[in-house]
Amino acid sequence: MGKKDRTFASKVAKGAVDHSQKCSVCGDAFHLIKVVSTLEAPESKSLRFQEKMVRVCKCNHAEVYGG
Ligand SMILES: [Zn+2]
Repeated sequence: MGKKDRTFASKVAKGAVDHSQKCSVCGDAFHLIKVVSTLEAPESKSLRFQEKMVRVCKCNHAEVYGG
């Protein structure tokens, strides 16, 4: 196994599969992942981190994982 350069994926925690809900569009079970995004506050010039849980299916997989 070689090391892969994962710029965006490194920010995405591995999540569980939510079998209780399925996407009505693609029929795929949702993966629940935690995405950490960086927010910059212009006034204080400080960085804040925002964590949010995202449901991932085939519809937005490329979007979430950066294509
Ligand atoms: Zn879907």
